[in-house]
Amino acid sequence: MIELDSVSKNFGDTTVLAGVTGQVNRGEIFAVIGPSGAGKSTLLRLIDLLDTPTEGAIRINGLDIHADKGRRLSIRRMMGMVFQKPAVFNTTVTENVAVGLRFRGAGRSEIRKMVEDALDMVGLAGYGDRKARTLSGGEMQRVALARAMVIEPEVLLMDEPTANLDPVSVAMIEDLVVRINRDLGTTIVFSTHDMYQGQRLAHRIGVLMDGVFSQVGTPREVFTLPASREVARFVGIEN
Ligand code: ADP
Ligand code: MG
Repeated sequence: MIELDSVSKNFGDTTVLAGVTGQVNRGEIFAVIGPSGAGKSTLLRLIDLLDTPTEGAIRINGLDIHADKGRRLSIRRMMGMVFQKPAVFNTTVTENVAVGLRFRGAGRSEIRKMVEDALDMVGLAGYGDRKARTLSGGEMQRVALARAMVIEPEVLLMDEPTANLDPVSVAMIEDLVVRINRDLGTTIVFSTHDMYQGQRLAHRIGVLMDGVFSQVGTPREVFTLPASREVARFVGIEN
């Protein structure tokens, strides 16, 4: 569903991504794992159209997403994005979740119903009238997740969604990732510096190192048959 074709990204003289190639299949959970500074956020930002590759192409359903500026809006509407730092607007929880729906010309009662369902899904039923900024980090991240999911995206992109959260909230978000994928069939791409999270959640993992995928495979493959010394070291197997 998502094809990364020799994707490179330079910032000035610095090469962050040096030809990332791989694909994400429809309906799978794909983890981008790699050490801090490996380029995980950069890669997700390219997929989310927040930045453009220096070279190479990203195709979704066969369409080069950066080639045609006129299609940006329709491509972005296929994707939900959750960032590392829980990002909420200074309004109510309901308003935060409804943001993406207003642009779609949904009616009032339709919006209300969709927002309620989304909040219910993330375990925040009854939180609609609370000010989003008064919630805990984990709750804010679940508001962000509800906002991403209420538009029923084909792809959910999550950049280190649990990096700043307490263990209980981490478990909640992880559980949601699995349920969203299983129950709604949403294709999910998330990044993490925590290889065990990749192992717990993902159907397949791409190990981002030195600007490329050093290995793409199932957690079992990556953890038992690391493709290189560097991958072995990162997943904690010295051999
Ligand atoms: P990760 O998410 O894996 O920790 P990032 O994608 O955030 O890594 O960053 C990878 C490298 O790219 C880092 O060295 C970072 O400093 C650099 N970088 C990221 N964004 C920019 C930018 N807008 N300008 C310059 N350098 C950047
Ligand atoms: Mg990052």
